[in-house]
Amino acid sequence: MQTHILGYPRIGSRRELKRACESYWNEKITLKELVLAAKEIREHNWKLQKDAGIDLVPSNDFSYYDQVLDMALTVNAIPDRYHDVILKEGKTELDLYFAMARGFQQNDLDITAMEMTKWFDTNYHYIVPEFTKDQQFKLFSTKIIDEFKEAKSIGITTKPVILGPVSFLLLGKEKEEGFNRLELIDNLLPVYFELFSQLSEQEAQWIQVDEPFLALDIDAHTQEIYKKVYAEISKKFPKLKILLATYFEGLKGNTELAVSLPVTALHVDLVRAPEQLSEVLDKIPDNLTLSLGLVDGRNIWKNNFIASLEQIKKAIEAIGQERVMIATSCSLLHSPCDLSLETKEDTLTPIIKSWLAFAKQKVTEVVTLSKLSGEDKADVIEALQANTQAQESKLTSALIHNTAVKDRVNNIKESDTHRDHEFAARKATQQSVLNLPLYPTTTIGSFPQTKEVRSWRAKFKKGELSEKEYNDLLAEETAQSIEWQEKIGLDVLVHGEFERNDMVEYFGEKLNGFVFTQNGWVQSYGSRCVKPPIIYGDVSRPEAMTVKWSTYAQSLTDKLVKGMLTGPVTILQWSFVRNDQSRSATCNQIALAIRDEVVDLEEAGIKVIQIDEPAIREGLPLRKSDWQAYLEWAVRAFRIAASGVSDATQIHTHMCYSEFNDIIESIAAMDADVITIECSRSQMELLDAFVQFNYPNDIGPGVYDIHSPRVPSRLEMEELLEKAKAVLPEDQLWVNPDCGLKTRGWEETRKALVEMVSAAKSMRESV
Ligand code: GLN
Ligand code: ZN
Repeated sequence: MQTHILGYPRIGSRRELKRACESYWNEKITLKELVLAAKEIREHNWKLQKDAGIDLVPSNDFSYYDQVLDMALTVNAIPDRYHDVILKEGKTELDLYFAMARGFQQNDLDITAMEMTKWFDTNYHYIVPEFTKDQQFKLFSTKIIDEFKEAKSIGITTKPVILGPVSFLLLGKEKEEGFNRLELIDNLLPVYFELFSQLSEQEAQWIQVDEPFLALDIDAHTQEIYKKVYAEISKKFPKLKILLATYFEGLKGNTELAVSLPVTALHVDLVRAPEQLSEVLDKIPDNLTLSLGLVDGRNIWKNNFIASLEQIKKAIEAIGQERVMIATSCSLLHSPCDLSLETKEDTLTPIIKSWLAFAKQKVTEVVTLSKLSGEDKADVIEALQANTQAQESKLTSALIHNTAVKDRVNNIKESDTHRDHEFAARKATQQSVLNLPLYPTTTIGSFPQTKEVRSWRAKFKKGELSEKEYNDLLAEETAQSIEWQEKIGLDVLVHGEFERNDMVEYFGEKLNGFVFTQNGWVQSYGSRCVKPPIIYGDVSRPEAMTVKWSTYAQSLTDKLVKGMLTGPVTILQWSFVRNDQSRSATCNQIALAIRDEVVDLEEAGIKVIQIDEPAIREGLPLRKSDWQAYLEWAVRAFRIAASGVSDATQIHTHMCYSEFNDIIESIAAMDADVITIECSRSQMELLDAFVQFNYPNDIGPGVYDIHSPRVPSRLEMEELLEKAKAVLPEDQLWVNPDCGLKTRGWEETRKALVEMVSAAKSMRESV
């Protein structure tokens, strides 16, 4: 049985690519040095797979920035505005490429970057290709061929990975009216033909063509295009072995289409959609090989060998060993690199570690699974035993299972999921306690995380500052921020979140059931990586997490200080989650922990509490038919977190970057007393959804863009508020920035907030 993986992480196990790229951008290393660093990473990855025994080692899974941008450059989908970069003296193809990714500013040139958006339901972001009506394509970058040759020169015949033509078009955007990007398929295909023929000349055997859209909702027209495209490819290249890769969802309604496409092998994701195996095996024609995506590319758990072997056996029985391939579910791009780099046994204990597998370990799992289902098992029997043991320990470990937590989740009552009275009544009660003016002003939570603040944390972690010294510094910073907020006349103050490195990590570190890695980095976009916490066990809260800082801040002022928490859905969404229970079950456990914190804050005298949920929307399933179920449990989890307090306590929530139209009903069902949203960049357009829905609770549409250092004027913000006032009642409106200010400097923050407060004041005057 042949083994392969769909792609390997390219950041390097110690983030070598990040360092190299950033050094090149800052002109600290030469192009040659960057190219060399990249080459070393590729070689390292290829050899590692070869040594582990992988049959089809991928190439072109490497990327300096993003694989979709690579494809755009390959087919010459380069927007006109970058042509000046090409013409600049001394600029190379790679400079053009980075200009497309990051924008280009030099002397007289100021060219904006291409748009970036989330890669399906992952936390990876890709560069969105731009298409025009008469777009012509040609082979521009030869990266795919070059990397194939490079691997061949060290003795490895790889399986190049190419983003399929239909998915490539679907991932892009029309940049002018009057056409649909799929109409470009006939212009685009010749470039793919050119690529395939060059690869054939180089004696490539297999090519992996990624068509993730086959696992999504697509219409009949798109289905027809799939048929046509793959028929043409097979007609032109009858000898080339194409492995058509789908992932992140099951084929569902596209099963018949997918198995009927004239390719050599079809890859299916059996981690996300194990149930599709039976249907695929039922419908598969005699000449099609099936690649089983068994090893999870999206999570950090060891594969369950016994369960996988069952699946493999089922496939072999149906179609025979020669037609089965063993693989990862998707590219390992979404996994951290190497578990063996985790050496801090006090946090990632040997037991927890024994449940995990990162990319390097997953490669071995693929090979082991293949051996275990073959004739010659002798040298992998021990691996099977070790795996079975790890699964058993995970099933019963007291580190994971906490009966009290499970019981509590099972006993959540209906009355725990809503407040005492409906919003209108709460609003009156709250107003009598809070006495807020019209257009109350507030911020979203964080204030600038300056170099100093970050250096204190680094020193504290290294032991160069004692806990007391560290806390004293934070207290001083908090006190200054309170004093200043009071002075400029904000209505609801925040403590500033100086003690937090990250809005999820901070809570994860304080909750039971979470563990953190030293090197578990995953690419988010370009050179940016994230290190998601791992939720391994039942979640509970050993003690209050934020009460100390909130009450300290409140003790310094007579104004209201808003408590600041991250919501259960966001904590879930930005972590690696358990695979032994549903996401909703884990989310409910987190919700109860946050609920306890909300109640503690109320008891400690905090009257306004914000529960941030910026990730609610990105948690939406890929298939529309799954939306309702998700939204129901996600909204319920938020309500569980928010509903432990009396009517008099005002609950805020915050979301950014969201489009609300299609989920507005669920946003309303969250029933937060106040929601603050990003709005300034869309000139209040995002408000439309709320207006059309007759959204009843209070709203703070962000009046200034915190992503840029630019200081907006009072007048600009007033104009935005006028727009909001034109469509919503005045007593429903709050005044606040788009999001937290932690990435901003103090100077611009001070100026902008002073302007914001005076905008609110002048709105009040015109009432
Ligand atoms: N309270 C957080 C902050 O101000 C919210 C961040 C977010 O929405 N991503 O930083
Ligand atoms: Zn935000």
